[in-house]
Amino acid sequence: MNPSLRYIQGYPQHIIEPVTQLVESGNLVQWFEQRYPQHHNIKSEKALFDYAIAIKNRYMKKTAPLSKVVYDNKIHLINHALGLHTYVAKVHGGKIKTKNEIRIASIFKQAPEPLLRMLVVHELAHLKEKAHNKAFYQLCCHMQPDYHQLELDARLFMIYLETVKQK
Ligand SMILES: [Zn+2]
Repeated sequence: MNPSLRYIQGYPQHIIEPVTQLVESGNLVQWFEQRYPQHHNIKSEKALFDYAIAIKNRYMKKTAPLSKVVYDNKIHLINHALGLHTYVAKVHGGKIKTKNEIRIASIFKQAPEPLLRMLVVHELAHLKEKAHNKAFYQLCCHMQPDYHQLELDARLFMIYLETVKQK
């Protein structure tokens, strides 16, 4: 088995099978580039922050504010850890304040825009729902109706990157 297929571990067979075929036949790269011909232009942390705030203000205005949204090159994407949400507790004059930070894996700097959006939506939803439960995914789909397809495509993007690197 091609090791890059670990990214779709846990998906049902009717998804694993065609993806495996794409990978083993060597057609995944071309397929992916046709599906997503364009990359986003949100390269700076300021741009990323503004991008996330715009989505938050539209769908989750009342949820606790975001203090930071950054690209982080230390995040390795494995299985269900698509991003990292941190709640940094800081002590201010005896009071503990929680700061909401979102960290996006740096490799998504070169991703198609819908996939970056999916990651940001995922992390924003965690501001409200900590666990990956039904309420969490409902919130994700509210912000991005094709959320589930894009979460799969984000994994295909990981396989795409690994395949491109090997060439
Ligand atoms: Zn999560």
